[in-house]
Amino acid sequence: MRNDVKAIQLVWLSKTGLTNLNSGEGGSNLVDIKKFRYGGQEFPYISGQAMRFYLKEAIRRHLQPQEACVADEQGETCGRIAECVLCDLFGFMTTVPDVGALTRVSPVKVSPAMGLLPLDGTMVMDFLTRRHRGVTAEREAELRSDIVNVELAVNLYKAGICVDVQRVGREEELVSIGERRGRGRRRRGEGEAEGEAVRPILSVQLREYASDAERARRIGLLLDAIKDFSDYSKQARLLTDFTPDLVLVTLQHNYSHRLQKALELQGDNAAIVHLERMRQILSEVREDLVSVNNGPAWWAGVVDGIVDNTDEVRRVLQELGVPVLTPRQAIDAAKTALGISSS
Ligand SMILES: [Zn+2]
Repeated sequence: MRNDVKAIQLVWLSKTGLTNLNSGEGGSNLVDIKKFRYGGQEFPYISGQAMRFYLKEAIRRHLQPQEACVADEQGETCGRIAECVLCDLFGFMTTVPDVGALTRVSPVKVSPAMGLLPLDGTMVMDFLTRRHRGVTAEREAELRSDIVNVELAVNLYKAGICVDVQRVGREEELVSIGERRGRGRRRRGEGEAEGEAVRPILSVQLREYASDAERARRIGLLLDAIKDFSDYSKQARLLTDFTPDLVLVTLQHNYSHRLQKALELQGDNAAIVHLERMRQILSEVREDLVSVNNGPAWWAGVVDGIVDNTDEVRRVLQELGVPVLTPRQAIDAAKTALGISSS
């Protein structure tokens, strides 16, 4: 795998059918949609925690049981960076006997998915009844209170991910980079010898827990998961595809989250990508990119019918020199450029 890449960044739009991917607090008879308010209107969102769960479960499908743990009753995971793919990629807060509390900041940063179209006009209340065969008249009235209301909505979501590549399969440890003497300890009238305390000067370095090949494999599993993730809630009734439909992918020699602002809609209630915003952000991000085949390491994946100005989106991307592929091809192109073999 290339060792000059500090960040792999993706930002994408995904259009869903009628669904409820991540429920809020709700009530006893309500399965609601998580919502935020902006500009006086309500929009749906899917929490970053839910997004991380979907990605973890997608990766787990490709692992042997011994390669990844599940959380125990306390919600704690194993914390073994070398052996556990999911603890490495997604971090942990856990307690280890004889060691104490251990935490690892996830090298995989995931955004919540934000619905970009107002819920007013895109949402419906569905009544889920638990009707049984051969119910008596008395039971009929009883069952009427058994109705569950489920909020369902169509929307266009924006989500993103940024991988802190240098920290996959590695963790910070303290290291002494020298020593200093006496400073701050000596007081007037004290002897020279007493002030000669030697203290280490500390810094941090990354310790390797996995080989380069294993680190590349784990990043490949994550990138593949973005193409396939599907373990959203309530899929038994609400089969949905929530993988990227319009995606931008970059490989960066500088760690930044700037690309996340490249995809935004223009105006209210219409799925029109803000072209000038996309052009400006991509122009800024360009200076952070490693080069591949004498060009910047960026790719776009676009399928038709997701936004209303797809042709203009393609034109702007082509003017900037961004290869326009399908979403899966774009992710695969990034994998190839990283030197990760396709599985
Ligand atoms: Zn684990």
